[in-house]
Amino acid sequence: MPVTNKKKIVLWSLWLLVVPVGLFLIQEAFSAPEANKWNLLAYALFFIITCLMPMKINGASAYLVQWATIAVFLKYGILAEIVFSQLMVLIVTLRSRTSEPLSFRIPFNSLMFFTASVLAGLAFFAAGGNIGSLDLVHITLYGFIFQFTSFFANQLILYFYDKFTGANPKFLSIDMIWDLSITLLVFPYALAIYIAESYIGIPALLFLGIPFFIMSAIMKMYNSSEKINVDLKKAAEIGHQLAGRLSTDEVLDQFVFQVADLFKADYAYVVDYRDNQLQMLRMFENGELLTNSVPPIRYNKGIGGKVVTTNMPVIYDRKSVWKDMVTGHLPIDSESIMATPIARNNKTEGVLLLGSRHKYAFNRHQLQIMDILSTYFAVSLEKAGYVQRAIAISERCGLTKLYNYRYLDAKLEKSMEKVNTGELDTLSLVMMDIDRFKGINDQYGHQSGNDILIQLARIIEEEVGQEGTVARYGGEEFVVLLPNYGKDLALLFAETLRKRIESHAFQIINDLDHERSMLDVHITLSIGVSTAPDDSDDGMALIRNADRALYIGAKQAGRNKVAAYAK
Ligand code: GH3
Ligand code: MG
Ligand code: MG
Repeated sequence: MPVTNKKKIVLWSLWLLVVPVGLFLIQEAFSAPEANKWNLLAYALFFIITCLMPMKINGASAYLVQWATIAVFLKYGILAEIVFSQLMVLIVTLRSRTSEPLSFRIPFNSLMFFTASVLAGLAFFAAGGNIGSLDLVHITLYGFIFQFTSFFANQLILYFYDKFTGANPKFLSIDMIWDLSITLLVFPYALAIYIAESYIGIPALLFLGIPFFIMSAIMKMYNSSEKINVDLKKAAEIGHQLAGRLSTDEVLDQFVFQVADLFKADYAYVVDYRDNQLQMLRMFENGELLTNSVPPIRYNKGIGGKVVTTNMPVIYDRKSVWKDMVTGHLPIDSESIMATPIARNNKTEGVLLLGSRHKYAFNRHQLQIMDILSTYFAVSLEKAGYVQRAIAISERCGLTKLYNYRYLDAKLEKSMEKVNTGELDTLSLVMMDIDRFKGINDQYGHQSGNDILIQLARIIEEEVGQEGTVARYGGEEFVVLLPNYGKDLALLFAETLRKRIESHAFQIINDLDHERSMLDVHITLSIGVSTAPDDSDDGMALIRNADRALYIGAKQAGRNKVAAYAK
């Protein structure tokens, strides 16, 4: 839920009314015991270090600061405990990374902990607790009352806040059980530190604190190496999957999707760097691939431009750091940004840019993983390019660059399936054969014959345009597939083509002439047409029928003719 300004004003007003006034009243009502300023300072130091060393459990930060606040309360009373708790609120809030603004979280948390401190203190005194007691039964019993009042007050405030804002919370949630477990875990430590400090003074804080801080540090290191391991494993998996993609589109889609998922990014972009421009190739926002609508920008502009020109990755933790740099597309609620160059053979080919609505969403070790992934990506893209080019070559005729028989066969099969399922109403097949082509070869040479085949291929392509598919069927035979062309329309097309060829002058160099003179040569076509589903519902039969029309209806009838198949 967004935090409105109105909500902030209400919260700050409430804070001003409660916290300073409350502090004043408490100071008046409760006399603080005599305090040794060195001991108090040692406690404060100990406390601040505890605040700075949260334990990471299951990915969530757990702050064990209560072991100091309870001890402070038992020794110095309610006012000291409030001051320590408020200090804790400030440190922890400033360090934690959430999307809600600090101007909201600070007064909210401060109010919550203030209320909990006051209620817990009042419960302690009302039950008959004494500050400074060293009677074990007394401090266990009343300390417990203090801690549990504080715990439940906190939980209740959170519960009612969620309910009030429409979040539909459960009181007995997993989070609450975690908090309760930590509270129970910390309690004996709190008593131990209070008792030990009371008897032996400041060294007690060192005896108990040092092992704790070392443990915290070890856990922190363990957690981060564990996280790197997990991320590396996922990165390797993504790499394998990318390598399995055979088209560049598939590689791009898979890459943005998986990288966004791995780094929990709200936004992911792949930008191509070419011809001094940065062009958006893929946009992935809030779990969805978007159609690309961003115009290209100059290669040195924006965050992408910085990555390209320096060939270095960048991480920005907050919007304020990058907002003056952007030129292109980035949703206004973005906060953290991580961008790496995509390089192949030491040459930057593009940029991968990830965005998050959260501050401090990315870190350095992720940058290295992103670097590895970008390399996987560039290699997979290159491989997919080779595969696509190999497929394209295998589908074409080397001489005329038209589709070959292999491609035509598959295309015909697919098109006939569409006719049979009703997706296509009709499909016409036009087959043509050059008349007396052998004579041209004999007269002008094979090379000249080839030149004519190439020129003819371009003319047929031009005539067909986007209407159908042209293929070289055999030596000097060509086939045109025309979806949604009935017989009459196909005959009209064939006749137009026949006439155009008849009157076209093909230019050749006479190979057999010593002077290699330029010549105009005329050829004619014999053409056969057959149509599905009228003539046949089978691809091979459609070819056979057109062939028959070509030889019987056109060649045998004198050549330079168009004929339709007749049953
Ligand atoms: P018609 O079809 O009118 O009966 O006569 P034609 O001379 O075209 O007949 P045929 O099918 O017997 O001969 C086809 C000729 O096409 C044979 C060959 O010389 C020529 N040809 C086939 N493929 C190629 C090619 O790739 N390049 C060249 N230059 N000629 C080819
Ligand atoms: Mg021929
Ligand atoms: Mg032939």
